[in-house]
Amino acid sequence: SVVVTGATGQLGRLIVESLLRRGVPAGKIVALGRDTSRLADLADRGVEVRPADYADPDSLRSAFADAEQLMFVSGSEVGQRVPQHHHVIEAAREAGVGLVVYTSIAHADTSDLLLAAEHRATEEELRASGLPYVLLRNSWYLENYTGQLAGYLAHGVAGSAGDGRVSAATRADYAEAAAEVLTTEGHAGRAYELGGEAFTMAELAAEVSRQSGQDVRYTDLPVPAYTDLLVSAGLPEPYAATLADADRGIAQGALYVPVEDLEKLLGRRPTGLAEAIRAAR
Ligand code: NDP
Repeated sequence: SVVVTGATGQLGRLIVESLLRRGVPAGKIVALGRDTSRLADLADRGVEVRPADYADPDSLRSAFADAEQLMFVSGSEVGQRVPQHHHVIEAAREAGVGLVVYTSIAHADTSDLLLAAEHRATEEELRASGLPYVLLRNSWYLENYTGQLAGYLAHGVAGSAGDGRVSAATRADYAEAAAEVLTTEGHAGRAYELGGEAFTMAELAAEVSRQSGQDVRYTDLPVPAYTDLLVSAGLPEPYAATLADADRGIAQGALYVPVEDLEKLLGRRPTGLAEAIRAAR
């Protein structure tokens, strides 16, 4: 079976949907989550649902039983992911999983983003585990931007990304790429750098302007000022600092990747910025 972690989350859910659309029998898909009641609709469609908590090794051992492939969606509890992911890899090793597909971050092996450290540690542990694995080094989600359209229209776009280009793609496209890797041969040992057509924050503001008919500008801020802005908007300080640090990285190209890897896995161009904004409006 194909076991998908994080199926209660946005990306994991889309990966399960992509697998079903590709004709993987529901009975061969196992969807994992901490709160399995949130997977009830998938269970109704014949998908097997099992509880799994990255902090609970026993739950992972039971959840991975009979897994031929493990779609390992990285956890969202930043700061706790090294021990959590260690438990996932250990349980995968014990279960003798045939292929682990891990959602990492762009350039995880060399990235200086705060966010990259836990991904790099996980990649290193996967490599050392002896398990066959594929790295999906995903850049930013387009939804990180299109989810903020109302704010852009009210206050403009702010950040610390300078004129750096970010290769954002939709979760749906990253999910489709993951499903392609899970349903076709020849990916073991590969590290895919995945992202969409790159754009700058000024280009983002210009596209919002074009589609809204409003004059939306990008204001570049020093990292501490952008952190403060995010805190004043209600984000917890550590999260705000991590996001502002990601912008600092974007200014230096940390989330830029050529579009080719994603395009090849999709067999088409990924959804672009303009289309994503149109869909979100
Ligand atoms: P979501 O927050 O929607 O989903 C995260 C998933 O991880 C949920 O299913 C969550 O389960 C699960 N999870 C978190 N902690 C644990 C745990 N201890 N045990 C078991 N499951 C756990 O994120 P997305 O789906 O949008 O993104 C997937 C991943 O990509 C994120 O987890 C993060 O690593 C990374 N990410 C990437 C971004 C990007 O721009 N590329 C932006 C944000 C995150 P539960 O429902 O129980 O909480």
